[in-house]
Amino acid sequence: MKERLYLFDTTLRDGAQMNGVDFTLHDKLAIAKLLDDLGVDYVEGGYPGANPTDTDLFSQDRKFGAIFTAFGMTRRPGRSTSNDPGLATLLDAKADAICFVAKSWDYHVKVALETTNEENLASVRDSVTAAREKGREVLVDCEHFFDGYKANPKYALACARAAHEAGARWVVLCDTNGGTLPHEVEKIVTEVVKHVPGDHVGIHAHNDTEQAVANSLAAVRAGARQIQGTLNGLGERCGNANLVSIIPTLKLKPEFADKFEIGVTDAKLKQLAHASHTIDEMLNRAPNRHAPYVGESAFATKAGIHASAIAKDPATYEHVLPDLVGNERKILVSDQAGRSNVLSELERIGLTVDKNDSRITRLLDEVKEKESAGFAYEAAGASFELMARRVLGQVPDYFTVERFSVNVERRYNAIGQLTTVAEATVKVKVDSETLISAGEGNGPVNALDVALRKDLGKYQKYIAGLELTDYRVRILNGGTEAVTRVLIESQDETGARWTTVGVSPNIIDASFQALMDSIVYKLVKSGAPA
Ligand SMILES: [Zn+2]
Repeated sequence: MKERLYLFDTTLRDGAQMNGVDFTLHDKLAIAKLLDDLGVDYVEGGYPGANPTDTDLFSQDRKFGAIFTAFGMTRRPGRSTSNDPGLATLLDAKADAICFVAKSWDYHVKVALETTNEENLASVRDSVTAAREKGREVLVDCEHFFDGYKANPKYALACARAAHEAGARWVVLCDTNGGTLPHEVEKIVTEVVKHVPGDHVGIHAHNDTEQAVANSLAAVRAGARQIQGTLNGLGERCGNANLVSIIPTLKLKPEFADKFEIGVTDAKLKQLAHASHTIDEMLNRAPNRHAPYVGESAFATKAGIHASAIAKDPATYEHVLPDLVGNERKILVSDQAGRSNVLSELERIGLTVDKNDSRITRLLDEVKEKESAGFAYEAAGASFELMARRVLGQVPDYFTVERFSVNVERRYNAIGQLTTVAEATVKVKVDSETLISAGEGNGPVNALDVALRKDLGKYQKYIAGLELTDYRVRILNGGTEAVTRVLIESQDETGARWTTVGVSPNIIDASFQALMDSIVYKLVKSGAPA
């Protein structure tokens, strides 16, 4: 019987502390769903009461398979649990679990909290009890635990014990400033589990010496059974422990795989690369090509003189098989790998095609050509689906845009203020009917979108509920000149969302392609007649 290890994701709380990361409510819900799908046990949503987004996030019931967790402080020193507004907000948050952060270093108790060691312990006990009375599962993050332990082991252990004895499901040992080394973590956790059972001990590591993953694994070796981390290691300063590296290590390295099981199944593990790239797309940043397991180069081997050996037995050059984590090998065989990727994508969409169908080769060629031009289909499933359906002859020529023009003008308005106005005109042909529409917007793309969707004749009713929910631009420095990639997310009246992509040296052209794909995708989806 394997022992269960639990994964606790804090991308939405600690990960959101990272410079340049600013999740909207929509982002947070999408990421929570991604994590839930992956099989993470706990999703920490944020800090209700600390900012409007997190307060919103915890104002409604959210149904996830994962344990949806709210983060916050223990009761303030000198107050009772019933007379602490911050604690009240946390206790009222619609969450399955509450993770309290508590001091466990006596120096911080004195300097930061300005209270006594005993009052700090009482605050931990009272807060845990109050949350348990509210029916919540409770976790206690022992802040600066390792530094605290080095300074005063007795007090650090007293904090951990107080949390456990009051009924916290997990006592989480935090390496808050990220400076502890793996052998120290292993030694200290070995001591802690003599006082708090290991299956109630968690590890929360930061990456300031680039050893957050190693520290997490060291804690598991010493007996901890919960690991906290974030997708792609997002987090303050140098980041948190990277779950994208930890998960496959636990699943694929015998030292851990033979002994432990986690909530991420083998099938879900294959979605890991996708999950990692999705987060980067949401943050509008290029995925790290050299990321372990999931980076584009993680299984790229320069063939050279080893070419034939690699082709015969790739395993000799790889520490794990790339497809186990949803990645692929980048040598010689890319044709084969590409083909099976396309086939599995088609299957996912629900298009059944014989694997020897010659159209698969055509589709694959088109994907390769477009991707080398800068298209990103991993992030734009709807554009991929359209391309596939086109190759299979399943997309009618609903309408053609014969011409469009966009004009941006900066001028003084009637009351003398400087304003910029964009206007677009679109000439569309539907059957034999020519339709000309104009639209105004706060920017050229917005104006083009308004004009394009104003009148599509007999198709208008199918796109009436269509709206754009996100628009992202990235400049790609591929070859000699920069090109622009535009990703557009759309939503319809049923709440379905999809993303389309356009690439061009010209941002309006790139946007136009993505807008067109979005409209045509909606028509296909709605079963609009040709
Ligand atoms: Zn942290």
